[in-house]
Amino acid sequence: MQALLIDGLASCRMAEIPDPSPGPGEVLVDIRHVGLCGSDLATFTGLNPLVSLPRIPGHELGVVILSAGPDVPAAYVPGKRAVVMPYTACSTCSSCRAGRINACRYNRTLGVQQDGGLSERFVLPYGKLILNDRLAPRHLALVEPLSVGFHAVDRGRITSTDTVVVLGCGMIGTGAVIGAVARGARVIAVDFGDKTAIARSYGAAQTIDPGTEDVAARVNDLTEGHGADVVIEAVGLPATFTQAIDLVCFSGRVVYIGYSKAPV
Ligand SMILES: [Zn+2]
Ligand SMILES: [Zn+2]
Repeated sequence: MQALLIDGLASCRMAEIPDPSPGPGEVLVDIRHVGLCGSDLATFTGLNPLVSLPRIPGHELGVVILSAGPDVPAAYVPGKRAVVMPYTACSTCSSCRAGRINACRYNRTLGVQQDGGLSERFVLPYGKLILNDRLAPRHLALVEPLSVGFHAVDRGRITSTDTVVVLGCGMIGTGAVIGAVARGARVIAVDFGDKTAIARSYGAAQTIDPGTEDVAARVNDLTEGHGADVVIEAVGLPATFTQAIDLVCFSGRVVYIGYSKAPV
């Protein structure tokens, strides 16, 4: 079967790889939709320090079950649609023992530390699937990136009384906007030009364009001089890391999603 292989710096090609078959506890899935994000681009351009090449990318997956190996629960039948959790957890490191399996020290993300799903078919442990027949496969592929923003909202303990500044309105920041709006918070979305249009369409009350406006002054005005209750950083630049601290109120909460490639 065919897979897309990133085989060197800024180089990729379609490759013929062996057809996988499911072992005990595994399912074979048909890959219907694959989302590509900034981390895939970083893999392609050589800026992802976690990845080794060659690598098949693909961690945002909308799939349909084709077959199941032995020892798989009856619910995982052919034709079922699913979201894929692209991370692993060792169960023994300090994060895993604390129940924070999303932060496993030895995590091996699909498409990063191990080959991902940008191929025709893929084999996964059944426990990595979240079955869902309500969403279309292309929507299933959006669940993983959106859940990053939702998780940030959870970590920020956002409630309906909060004013939340979201720095960066890409896919991840958009998830944070949607998650915060869903909790009834007032959201101020910050990004350049029309990148905030989507945030506004999902319920951001105000938007700020750092290209033409003084972000700190505007946040100050919009919060009667207090600062935001919560700032979510979804950019990953040293400047926005420090800006988040400047924008948050006393006793506020800052959540960093982005990771900075330069010292902060
Ligand atoms: Zn991603
Ligand atoms: Zn672990």
